[in-house]
Order: sequence, then structure tokens, then C-alpha cells
Amino acid sequence: MFMAFGTTEEQHLLLESVDRLLMRHLPPDEIRRRDAEADPPDHLLPLMAEMGLLGLAVPESQGGAGANWQTMALVQERLGYRATMAALLFNRVTCFGIMTLLSSGSEEQRATYLPRMLAGEGAFALALTEPGAGSDAGAIATRAKPSEGGWSLTGQKLWISGAASALKLVVAARTGTQRRGSDGITLFLVSPDVDGIAMTPLDKIGNRCSPTYDIAFDGVFVPGDAVLGTLDAGFDCLRKTLFFGRTGLSAAVVGTAQAAVDTAAAHARERVQFDRPIGRFQTLAHRLAIMQTEVDQVRLLVRNLAWAIDNGEDCARLAAQAKWAATETLKRVTDHGMQIMASVAYAADSDMQRFWRDARLYTFGEGSSEIQLDLIAHDMGLGKALDR
Ligand SMILES: Cc1cc2nc3c(=O)[nH]c(=O)nc-3n(C[C@H](O)[C@H](O)[C@H](O)COP(=O)(O)OP(=O)(O)OC[C@H]3O[C@@H](n4cnc5c(N)ncnc54)[C@H](O)[C@@H]3O)c2cc1C
Repeated sequence: MFMAFGTTEEQHLLLESVDRLLMRHLPPDEIRRRDAEADPPDHLLPLMAEMGLLGLAVPESQGGAGANWQTMALVQERLGYRATMAALLFNRVTCFGIMTLLSSGSEEQRATYLPRMLAGEGAFALALTEPGAGSDAGAIATRAKPSEGGWSLTGQKLWISGAASALKLVVAARTGTQRRGSDGITLFLVSPDVDGIAMTPLDKIGNRCSPTYDIAFDGVFVPGDAVLGTLDAGFDCLRKTLFFGRTGLSAAVVGTAQAAVDTAAAHARERVQFDRPIGRFQTLAHRLAIMQTEVDQVRLLVRNLAWAIDNGEDCARLAAQAKWAATETLKRVTDHGMQIMASVAYAADSDMQRFWRDARLYTFGEGSSEIQLDLIAHDMGLGKALDR
């Protein structure tokens, strides 16, 4: 089912305030500097909190603005348009942090962490991936053993974003007797600075303002009340968290894809070769027309997903479709953007090369394109069920 998409006056004003926030506190030069120096824009969190952005989708009864997911998606898209690094930070607080708490947290956990996240103090970091468990999340080997008054965690997590500065790590560990599969996994809220944790930052080619870590857990004690959701049934919570992660990423990626098309089109209008702007060559004009059409298509998918969430529909397939389509589109349009802008894009401080490098993560991070297609196919009665 589809709805008609428009922007209300209230949403329009909200998006203008997002523009002002970023133009003032994360202007284009500052984005380039932070990317070059891998300096995360964490200063934005208290400012986003002050504007009420972090609590946008949180019910008013729990201290939020009670807005719908369609408004969230608009904000995520606008953040992605202005600064992907800001959108990723926003999503870590809202999708991995707040939505995890709202969907799986106990009353006590919500009372402890929700106000802190709404105040911009930090986010949760999702610690799922391991050296032997990437796409195959059911291969998690990190183990939690009962220990006096709680649990003892031993294992290794890899590529965990925002881990060092997180309010808590959401660690998926095996508590059941099963050696693999989604049963017998439990989620634990673990402080990043407790005894027995060793973190190593990982260098990477893109998304340089979203710091990522290898984490070793060596007999880390966590109290019994650190269990998030139900013992041995952590995958039920994980699926909800991954769902909101995919939704938020898709919306942000539409914004970045639009920024890439605008940047390439502006260049094609200005750059003169053979006595005419290169955008007058039909091959480039058509390429840009296709890029814009593809971005408009995925925008509709993402808005439809947001609308379906607001209307309480079962959206797992829509989220996988939006994630697949948005990230593949971004990968394609940034690659074309590099070709259209050629040497100008290849300069280390060009925006296009940053879009292109960042884009390369999203078709496999947070569940690869192949896994999204498996999820969609399974929903169509094809293929096999996955632990995702
Ligand atoms: C910068 C960065 C940040 C990250 N942040 C986090 C984080 O915060 N938390 C976290 O838990 N993880 C994080 N990850 C991990 C990320 O989610 C994984 O990289 C992703 O799940 C893919 O796993 P993998 O890299 O091990 O690839 P693999 O699973 O080894 O896959 C390799 C290739 O094989 C394909 N493949 C695998 N299985 C199948 C199949 N059944 N059918 C068809 N094709 C298949 C994949 O699609 C892929 O193309 C991050 C990764 C990066 C690089």
C-alpha cells in the first residue's frame, strides 16, 4: 500500500532548523577537516538534544516529541544530505540506542539510559560482529557464563562503531547450550571501560568520523540486571534493533545520494570542454537524469517504509528492500559522480571522493546486500530463513 508524500509546514520548519544547525556547527570545510583527521562531530549531540531532535520519535510520555517515523526519515535524509557523519551519529543514538531501549529495555534500563541519551550524553554501540560471525550472525562464539551475581563474558568483537565513547555496549553472547544458531544468544549492556575489556581502534578508508574498534573480552563481569530483553532470546531484540538500523541508514543514504547527484550536476553545468559545458553532452546529461531518477525511486521506498511503520504494518521486508535499494543506489551514483567529475573528484579534499568512500561501506555494513536479498526472497516464500 502506498500513501501520498508531502511535507507539512511543521516538518518544513524542522528541516530548516536542521540546515541551520549544520551550517553553523558543521559547515562543509569543517566536514572535510574532520574527515581528514578522523575527528568525530560529537559536539553535535548536546545541540541536537537541545533542539529535541534526539527524542523526535520518542513518545511524549517518555520525554520525547512524539513525532512519527515519517518525520524521523525526513530528518535523517536531511542530515545525510548535509553531512553523512552527522546522520550516522544521530542514527547511533536514535536507532541503536533509543529504539533498542524502547523496544527491548526493562523499565529500569529505560529510566537509567533514556534521559541520558535524550540529553545527548552518548549512544549505545551494537557489538554483534566477530571474526567468525559477520553475515552469519548465528555463528557468534562470545560466551557468557554464570558467575556469582551475574555473568562472565569472554570472546572477541570486531568492527564495533562508536564503542569507546558509548554509554553501553550491547554485546551479543552465547548463554545457551547450542554451539550455533540464533537460539541461546543473550544481549548484555556492558560498560566500555570495565576490567577485562581491551579495545583497539581500526583504521579504515571511509566513514572516518565513525570510530570503529576491535574489542577483546577476557572474563568481563556483568551484573545480572545487565541482561537486555529475555535470556537466551536476544535475537528477538537484535532483529528489532537491526530493523531500525536499516530504516535509519536507508533514509540517511538517500540524502547523501542526493548530495552526490547535486554535486555532479553542478560540476557538469560549469565545467567547459570542447567549448560547451560537459552537461550538454547527451551521454552525461542522460547519466545524470538516470541518477536523479534512481534517487527519487529510493526516496519513495524509504518514505513508504516510514509510513508503513507509522501505520503499524509488518515492515521487515520493506526495510530490507529500502536498505538494499538505497545503499546500492548510493554506490552507483557516487561511482558515476567520480566519472563525471574526473580529476576534480579525485582530489583528496573533494566531497565526491568522500561520498564514494563512505558509500562503499553501506552495501555490506549492517547486513550485506546479498543478505537483504535473501531476507526479501524468504519473505516471498523463496530461499531459506536467516539469523538476521
Ligand atoms: C566500518 C564498519 C563499521 C561496522 N560497524 C559495526 C558495528 O557497529 N557493530 C557490528 O556488530 N558490526 C559492525 N560492522 C560489521 C558489519 O556489519 C559486517 O562487516 C557485515 O555484517 C558483513 O560481515 P563481514 O564483513 O564479515 O562479511 P562476510 O560475512 O564475510 O561476507 C563476505 C561476502 O560474502 C557474502 N555472503 C556471506 N554470506 C552469504 C550468503 N549466505 N549468501 C550470499 N552471500 C553471502 C556477503 O554478502 C559479502 O559480500 C562494521 C563493519 C565496518 C566495515
